Amino acid sequence: MDKLLNLIFTQKCMFCKSGKSLFCEQCLCTCPVPENNNYGLYIRSLKRKVNAFSTYDYDGSVRVCIKESKYGPKQFAALKILAYKGAVNLQTNHKFYEHFTAVPVPLNKRKFRSRGFNQAEIIAKIVASKCGIPHNPELLKRSKETDVQYKHGRLARYENVSGAFAAEPAQIKGMRILLVDDICTSGATFTEAAKTLYEAGADSVRCYSLSRRV
Ligand SMILES: [Zn+2]
Repeated sequence: MDKLLNLIFTQKCMFCKSGKSLFCEQCLCTCPVPENNNYGLYIRSLKRKVNAFSTYDYDGSVRVCIKESKYGPKQFAALKILAYKGAVNLQTNHKFYEHFTAVPVPLNKRKFRSRGFNQAEIIAKIVASKCGIPHNPELLKRSKETDVQYKHGRLARYENVSGAFAAEPAQIKGMRILLVDDICTSGATFTEAAKTLYEAGADSVRCYSLSRRV
């Protein structure tokens, strides 16, 4: 941890090159925020609405930070700073996550292998510690390899991700789950993941993404 703190506070800001922090307070304040960061997703087959919340717009330095976090320790540390800010924002807006467990949206194996880590998991861990709730990356799994979502149009995204996740009813029954991801675009991934969790017996599912691309 000392090494990481050292990295965060002794390096220049990735964006303005000031010497304050890898992602300085001033640059964090200029990160684009959505007009409405509270929104609803809809699971058609279950006729169920799911509440979702995103802290930032997937644009500007937020986009650079998320995209580049896989390229090196500096960029990775910058993502952690942004995720912490996002978690503070989430906690300020919603104080009702007491009985929830943060669960990251799992990456498909191919992506995980090439990247080496799951950004959603890092964000979920930070959200969980900030909100004082447990974090469990084992509750939701990928059950099939899917194509990358950005290649597909809005409707095809729902098809592409259909049946992509699996959850054990014995582990999920009665649970309240806060699904966490780095980006929400069409909402197809969140919707499918939430559907899987509800079908496994979850009591309540909500979604949080660090950023949203509309
Ligand atoms: Zn800066």
